[in-house]
Amino acid sequence: MLTFTYTAGLGLQGQPPENNNWLRNAGGSPLHHRALRGSNEYIPITSSEASPGGLGACPQLVTLTAHAGSRSRPDIYSLHGTIFILIQQAEEVTGMKVVVEGCCHGQLNSIYDEISRRYGSVDLVLICGDFQAMRNEQDLNCMACPPKYRAMGDFRQYHTGERKAPYLTIVIGGNHESSCYMQELFYGGWLAPNIYYLGAAGVVQFRGLRVGGLSGIYNPHSFDKPHYERVPYDRNAERSVFHVRRTEVQRLALIRERMDVMMSHDWPAGIDQYGNLNWLLKAKPFFKADIEKGMLGSPPAMELLKTIKPAYWFSAHLHVRYPALYTHDAKAKINEDEIELDLDDGNPDEITLDENPDQIDLDLEAEVDETPPTPTGYPRTSFLALDKCLPRRKFLELINIDVDQPDQPLSYDPEWLAILRATHKTNTDLFNQIDIELKWINSNISDLKIPDNFKQLTKPLNELAEETNIPPSQLRTYQPQMQNNNQTDAFCNLIEIKTD
Ligand SMILES: [Zn+2]
Repeated sequence: MLTFTYTAGLGLQGQPPENNNWLRNAGGSPLHHRALRGSNEYIPITSSEASPGGLGACPQLVTLTAHAGSRSRPDIYSLHGTIFILIQQAEEVTGMKVVVEGCCHGQLNSIYDEISRRYGSVDLVLICGDFQAMRNEQDLNCMACPPKYRAMGDFRQYHTGERKAPYLTIVIGGNHESSCYMQELFYGGWLAPNIYYLGAAGVVQFRGLRVGGLSGIYNPHSFDKPHYERVPYDRNAERSVFHVRRTEVQRLALIRERMDVMMSHDWPAGIDQYGNLNWLLKAKPFFKADIEKGMLGSPPAMELLKTIKPAYWFSAHLHVRYPALYTHDAKAKINEDEIELDLDDGNPDEITLDENPDQIDLDLEAEVDETPPTPTGYPRTSFLALDKCLPRRKFLELINIDVDQPDQPLSYDPEWLAILRATHKTNTDLFNQIDIELKWINSNISDLKIPDNFKQLTKPLNELAEETNIPPSQLRTYQPQMQNNNQTDAFCNLIEIKTD
């Protein structure tokens, strides 16, 4: 794939910009380019689109459709109209085709078929929760949802080996899951061959791309509880099992190395303010009350977005496609010479959410002696929420991401392993402890490749019936047995921690 140096300009009525309408500082690095792309209706700039006259020899105009934004934040390239990109220079870089999917709801076959139809072969698929890894009918009894909506879906074909995921797929959990199975793989693991679950929280690497995720959804009543739930779940446990806990948020907040991609099922609270909010309120008017209270989404996820500063943040849950662009350095002065992108009619519905009264204090200070080192993040985070897999819904999006280790298999992330080890010990200075643990990881684990150690531990119901002499009609009313998963045992042995 090609990466570009460019300048961008604002064109009116579909015409290329006038001379004085070019944006200053709009072009530059591939990173900058990525951030801009993430904020827009995504139209990939391919070499064939851009090079009819030969790149470099003759600059080409390429258009991106911009999203509408607000008067108060012109720095996020938010405007009505068309941004024209003037390509100045292009170079070949190693790119990875990453497809993001919103909610899965058991529709794996349709999702993979649609990816193949639209994009051909891709390198990585990210699924943002409500995955529904139902191994057999018993798993349905662990999903918090009215019985009439409980459906097996496609996953069991992948679990038994009848089908194999055609692309490496990384998933997080949402609020409609085979929760018992996900608890078995608390630190992450293969749900089926080629389908990797990140765990309650987790970070992995693939081809040099760091991908992290937070499973579940936020609920203030469960945030400070331990993971007490065990099958058979009662009515309360069936729900609280997928609620995000402070422990996982704190672990993710300890990340200092640059993070490329983060995923959460529910949206980071307040991210709605950094996209086309008017459009969102029109499309989903019943969000209005929550948006006004700053309650749409997860406050701890927003804290993490601000702390980790990833290049991308992907979510699902609200069943609507919504791009936004969050700029981290709020103090960065807007260049006064910059052209006012004040073309919208103002945004009377805009709500300022900079100070969220419900902001979650991650309580890191209590455990850290010195000021924590500033994480090295990206200047902007491109947020994208996608819909669920239904006809005519926007549930898929392709993103090209430049990577620097094209041969790296799916691997454990050393910093994340060090964080897990450090947070399993009592220590007053966690950041110092993470440095110590990182040295331990580097000298004790030579191969970080995630092993292909998936085993089908749970049988289909008919086999279970033969084995137990209990009729399937009765068996299907039970919740599954909790079992030790070989992958969790191997992981805990590898980094020498006890299961949480
Ligand atoms: Zn959903």
